[in-house]
Amino acid sequence: TPPTTPPGPRPVRAPRGTVRTAKSWAAEAAMRMLYNNLDPEVAEHPDELIVYGGTGRAARDWASFDAITRSLLDIEPDETLLVQSGRPVGILRTHEWAPRVLIANANLVPDWADWEEFRRLDALGLTMYGQMTAGSWIYIGTQGILQGTYETFAAVAAKIGGGSLAGTVTLTAGLGGMGGAQPLAVTMNGGVAIVVEADPTRIQRRLDTRYLDERADGVDDALRRAERARAERRPLSIGVLGNAADLVPELLRRGAPVDVVTDQTSAHDPLAYLPSGVDVADWRRYAAAEPAEFTERARESMAAHVAAMVGFADAGAEVFDYGNSIRAEARRAGYARAFDFPGFVPAYIRPLFCEGKGPFRWAALSGDPADIAATDRAVLDLFPDDEPLARWIRTAGEKVAFQGLPARICWLGQGDRAQAGLRFNELVASGEISAPLAIGRDHLDTGSVASPYRETEGMRDGSDAIADWPLLNALVNTASGASWVSIHHGGGVGIGRSVHAGQVTVADGTDLAAGKLERVLGNDPATGVLRHLDAGYPEAERTAARHGLRAPMHED
Ligand code: NAD
Repeated sequence: TPPTTPPGPRPVRAPRGTVRTAKSWAAEAAMRMLYNNLDPEVAEHPDELIVYGGTGRAARDWASFDAITRSLLDIEPDETLLVQSGRPVGILRTHEWAPRVLIANANLVPDWADWEEFRRLDALGLTMYGQMTAGSWIYIGTQGILQGTYETFAAVAAKIGGGSLAGTVTLTAGLGGMGGAQPLAVTMNGGVAIVVEADPTRIQRRLDTRYLDERADGVDDALRRAERARAERRPLSIGVLGNAADLVPELLRRGAPVDVVTDQTSAHDPLAYLPSGVDVADWRRYAAAEPAEFTERARESMAAHVAAMVGFADAGAEVFDYGNSIRAEARRAGYARAFDFPGFVPAYIRPLFCEGKGPFRWAALSGDPADIAATDRAVLDLFPDDEPLARWIRTAGEKVAFQGLPARICWLGQGDRAQAGLRFNELVASGEISAPLAIGRDHLDTGSVASPYRETEGMRDGSDAIADWPLLNALVNTASGASWVSIHHGGGVGIGRSVHAGQVTVADGTDLAAGKLERVLGNDPATGVLRHLDAGYPEAERTAARHGLRAPMHED
């Protein structure tokens, strides 16, 4: 077991099975999900404790990882472990409805909240970047983002292609933990994708997991393959090795027949965006040795990359920022037209947030894929009239290769999340599911994030930068019985640009778990509905009325 393993980097994998080692399933679940985040099948760079999204870590260092493990195996069902930026700092007596773990990652006092100060503190070993689900232990591999990306491209298809991307070409970049979902999301919508990626190992990984269909030998080959598939209205995804700051402008110059353009390189962190002219092999060393110079070169490259995206928009393509701050970085490099195309949330996602919809997800702690198959059947059975949901669940069952513990994601809204959670808990109680489930979500959700370049861009009442909502969301989840709750800063858009919160609640089949699930899975999306209601969205007002949510300032 973990306490006897040697310190330092080593492959870890979540314990499986129906027998727990910890004193409660909530603590056991937190331990298994921490390990699962670092499973080599799941994490992008597990030796460095990096799960995804540039430098998003699961624990501060290996000594902290071991101490978290020991603590989770030791805590009583009425105790709570405190984790400060990936390091366990205390175990306090609370009560059985309280979370077993409370997590705060990468938070800085606002006036100090920039990358320079963050990196100084990081180098001193005082903080860590938690991304969204890396440091809060509910990352489930690329599937987590796949459904959201699928939804986004479906919305693009509805706008430009009558509901399908067949006969269109999408150009994007980045095949990392999140970005790797793009090719499959495009082909699931019937389209052709060309994805530029600087690191050949990332291309290979997406080919291995079937998220990407083919690798092209350069731009000419990529274009040939894309044009053929497009003419035949055949879905196809093509990876091409190169730097996006070079290849996207080149494709624009050539007048490539591109209909949709976006990007998912790790632009939120200038040290995780490869500048033009720098070799992948030199990347880490150069970024560590000369962070200021590297940052400047990365931003200049991002400006060239974004200028080409604007060029495609000028030429009539559908262009959007996919939540990585690339517009903000390009503007910092002096490119004035960086914000000439919108972010994806105001363009496609906000109406879903108004219904309390967001990336609901769960993992089978048993490790048994049959448990996820049982939850898939339960979802199909619970929501028989939701055709897009059914299409997603069926397609995911066929196409998605599990990474680490079997898991599933689907976007569910107010009311539906609680219903699903309660049904899952019944299935655990009856033995149809063999061990408890960890039920959580991304921080990119309706009520859990303030992020003016992404989730809260262009709010109707101008409240984009108000960060009270994610804090209320975390507090209410703590008060409602979640198993672990987290408050993070930075996430997908970088230091200084977002505040966000997460929750995971364990369904172990008990009545106590049912009570907690009913409250958390109702209250968690409710904060999002109320946030959008307060900002003046009529769709949110209708959702609140339908579900009897009370908003004192909006009652007659
Ligand atoms: P990642 O670090 O795992 O992958 C980024 C990839 O981009 C890497 O494979 C890297 O080699 C590649 N890359 C970097 N610079 C490049 C360049 N100049 N040209 C070509 N390729 C380059 O990150 P990720 O987890 O895939 O996340 C990507 C971005 O999306 C991050 O900024 C993340 O914060 C953001 N994000 C968006 C969402 C969303 O819902 N839209 C959600 C989470 C994260």
